[in-house]
Amino acid sequence: INHNLFAALRAAFPDALDEVAIETGDGLLYSWRDLEHGSAMMANLLQSLNLPKGARIAVQVEKSVEAMVLYLATLRAGYVFLPLNTAYQSLEIEYFIGNAEPSVVVCSSANFGWVSKIAFKAGTQHVFTLDDDRTGSLLERAAHCSDQHEVVVKQPDDMAAILYTSGTTGRSKGAMLSHGNLLSNARVLQDYWGWKQGDVLIHALPIFHVHGLFIAIHGALINGSKMIWLAKFDPKKVIEKLPQATVFMGVPTLYVRLLAEPGLTVDACRSMRLFIAGSAPLLIETFREWQARTGHTILERYGMSETAMLTSNPYQGGERRGGTVGFALPGVSLRVVGDDGQGLPAGEIGNIQVKGPNVFSGYWRMPEKTAEEFTADGYFKTGDVGKIDADGYITIVGRSKDLIISGGYNVYPAEIEGYINELPGVAESAVVGVPHPDFGEVGVAVVIAKPGATPDGARIVATLKSNLANFKVPKQCFVVSELPRNTMGKVQKNVLREQYKALFA
Ligand code: ATP
Ligand code: MG
Repeated sequence: INHNLFAALRAAFPDALDEVAIETGDGLLYSWRDLEHGSAMMANLLQSLNLPKGARIAVQVEKSVEAMVLYLATLRAGYVFLPLNTAYQSLEIEYFIGNAEPSVVVCSSANFGWVSKIAFKAGTQHVFTLDDDRTGSLLERAAHCSDQHEVVVKQPDDMAAILYTSGTTGRSKGAMLSHGNLLSNARVLQDYWGWKQGDVLIHALPIFHVHGLFIAIHGALINGSKMIWLAKFDPKKVIEKLPQATVFMGVPTLYVRLLAEPGLTVDACRSMRLFIAGSAPLLIETFREWQARTGHTILERYGMSETAMLTSNPYQGGERRGGTVGFALPGVSLRVVGDDGQGLPAGEIGNIQVKGPNVFSGYWRMPEKTAEEFTADGYFKTGDVGKIDADGYITIVGRSKDLIISGGYNVYPAEIEGYINELPGVAESAVVGVPHPDFGEVGVAVVIAKPGATPDGARIVATLKSNLANFKVPKQCFVVSELPRNTMGKVQKNVLREQYKALFA
């Protein structure tokens, strides 16, 4: 049998290929046949180029249905898809293209000049353009290709994509994901999240990242479900579409922005079945406010580029606990170990390690880094720190790189942020460690005020002092208007550390 991921997605298309598979924000309709024919034509184009085996197809384009079809085409033609964040500029593109050596680069026509220069210098043979208004040389060339195509046979271990991590903690690494990694995860989630006939997904995430590209797209396609496709996240547009949908996936900042809309009501959510959040920690306030406003309990899950999804709160048969990421998914082994690698008892904080059919095989062209990040018994070191409580719920308390060691004691930023967020006038906070002559490191808190509130930094420090062990208390607290975030809405703590590094030096 063919283990090509596309073969499984294609098998889930409804028999009635004329039905609508995708409806875009501006009212365009794509049928399942359009997806089948469009991906066949692009796959034929790619195959006509005589690319080497395992060729990478690097893609930096604005979100469009055609860009998704290009992903499907790459899968079915048996090449390796390599999506790139649309925010990347020349220095970043130079690094990624130099590192990945793609045979084909697809970019927007506005960037063709500089991208093609970088690509040709790096040895890329073909540069196509693809714009979000259904134009570009890729589509022009594909228009001359047959719409009949036989899906290339793949084994489960064959590489399907290289996904560069978000670069939250440093330079992005290319995670090599196989057809088997992605398909196993898609199937598990289809079952775990109770996907059913008639489901409609609102797709409002970027498609260069694991969340929008894999979790959302595979989720809908492997269930033969329609997507409402929004090229940009616009909270009003999402709310307008909610009554036609059943499932929504978002990063926490999207939920915050939706909550700022008066149109978000119980009635607006009447047809919805499930709201899923992930990619960054969901604030407990957001979780509670969402419940109060919509009557729905957000299901938070946890995963990463290297593994796709690892844990999830239950869809049914259990409580969705705010502040936790639920249980390890079926097939995933997850353990929490101390720095000595020994397993820790329930409730104790340590390093999260995982194993499973969804876990990647390694970082692209980084054999040493790959070797470092796997244990002798084959577990991947996620770099996240967390705990498992007596009921089996997993909580992420932060990343090991963000851990603060103050006077020899471990300080978990998420714990301190949790206390600060509960204080009056505080909307959100980030705690980072900075060098300190006496303690090695100390915490510094950066706080965002609630609209209209004016919390005082010194006051916050004083309040924490009277309630927490001294080593945990940030030595200073700054109230600022914005936290530095990357395009996935993740707080860039390395930027904050850099900013405050000289505070006590
Ligand atoms: P880099 O690895 O380049 O520093 P990154 O880790 O942010 O960047 P991604 O693979 O996009 O790149 O993100 C995965 C990380 O996101 C996880 O390791 C975890 O730290 C965080 N994350 C994902 N989901 C959650 C969640 N529900 N709660 C808390 N953190 C989460
Ligand atoms: Mg990471």
